[in-house]
Amino acid sequence: MTMTTADSPAPAPSPARPRVGIGACLNGQAVRYDGSNKRPHSALARLLEAFELRPFCPEVGIGMSVPRPPIHLVGSEPGQVRALDVASHQQDYTDALSDFAASVLQRAPDLCGYILVKNSPSCGYARVKRHHHNGNTLAADSQGIFAATLQRLAPLLPLEDDGRLHDPGLRDSFIARVFAYHDWQQCRAGKLSAGRLVAFYSRYKYQVMAHSITHYRALGRLLADAGKRDIQALSDEFITLLMQALSQRASVRSHTNVLFHLSGYLKRSLGDAERQRLKQLIDEYRCGHIPLVVPITMLRHHFANHDNPYIGQQVYLAPYPDELGIRNQL
Ligand code: SF4
Repeated sequence: MTMTTADSPAPAPSPARPRVGIGACLNGQAVRYDGSNKRPHSALARLLEAFELRPFCPEVGIGMSVPRPPIHLVGSEPGQVRALDVASHQQDYTDALSDFAASVLQRAPDLCGYILVKNSPSCGYARVKRHHHNGNTLAADSQGIFAATLQRLAPLLPLEDDGRLHDPGLRDSFIARVFAYHDWQQCRAGKLSAGRLVAFYSRYKYQVMAHSITHYRALGRLLADAGKRDIQALSDEFITLLMQALSQRASVRSHTNVLFHLSGYLKRSLGDAERQRLKQLIDEYRCGHIPLVVPITMLRHHFANHDNPYIGQQVYLAPYPDELGIRNQL
C-alpha cells in the first residue's frame, strides 16, 4: 500500500538527486569475471530511481579483461587479506584495487553514497569469504579490497551492498544517510557558521532521535557550545556524529517515541476524536498492525492543517522521496 501525501508540509526536497556510486555489474553492465551482469533485486531497482548513479567496476578499472580468471581473498586474519587469482595465487591485485578506490573518490568527490556488490572480493561490503593459501575457505568475515579502501578513505560515505539492502531497516538507514549527506554537502558549500550548523541540526532532531537517543544527546551537548568552538572542528565532529546516528537502525519503539513526541505539538489543535484517532494509529503501528507510513501520513496531514514551522521543517517527516515506499515496509 502506497499512501499519497499531497497535502503534507514536507521539507522541500533538493532539486538534484544525490549522486551515488554503484558496482557497474549491478547497473546492468556485463563486466563480471564470467561476462555476465548482476540484476538488482526489485527493492534495490526501486531505490536506484532516487539517485544519479555513477557506475564503476574496479576489476575492469585496473585493466582486467572480461571475461577473466576469478580472484578471491586470501589471508590468515580478516584485516590482512590479499586479492589473488584463484588458480595459482601468483597474481596479486590488492594494491591496484585499493588505488582504484582512491581514484574513484578523486574523480567523484561529490558522491553521497555507494552501493557495493555482495560476496565480491573487490566490492563486497561484509562477510566476503576469506581463504587459506591452500585454497580452503576459512571464514566469511572480510570486506572486498575496493570496499575496505573506500570505507577507510571516506568513513562518512554511506556504504551498503545489494544483499544487505534486501533488509527494509538497512534500506531505510542507508537512504536516510545518503539524503542527509547530500543535504550536508549543500550546506557545507556555503559559508559555515555556528548559527547555520544549529539551524541545519534543528531539522534533523527527530530523525536523529528515531535512530539513536545516545547520539541525540551527544549532538545536543556538542551544539550547546557551538559559538565557542572552532567552526571547522565543530562541523567535522557534528557530521561524524550525525552520520553515526543515522547508521543505527531505528526500531519500532524509537519510532513510536518520536511519533508521540510529534503528536504532542498538536495537543491544542486537535479535537478529542482526532487526537484519539492519532493515538490509536500510533498504537496500531507499535503493535505491528500497520506500517510506519500510516501514522506519519496522518501527522503530516494534521501539520498541514495546523501549521507549525518547527515541525514542518523536520526531516523525520520526509527523509527521502515517498515514492520509494520504504516506510510502507517499516
Ligand atoms: S562486483 Fe565489482 S569488480 Fe566485480 S564485476 Fe561487479 S563492479 Fe566489477
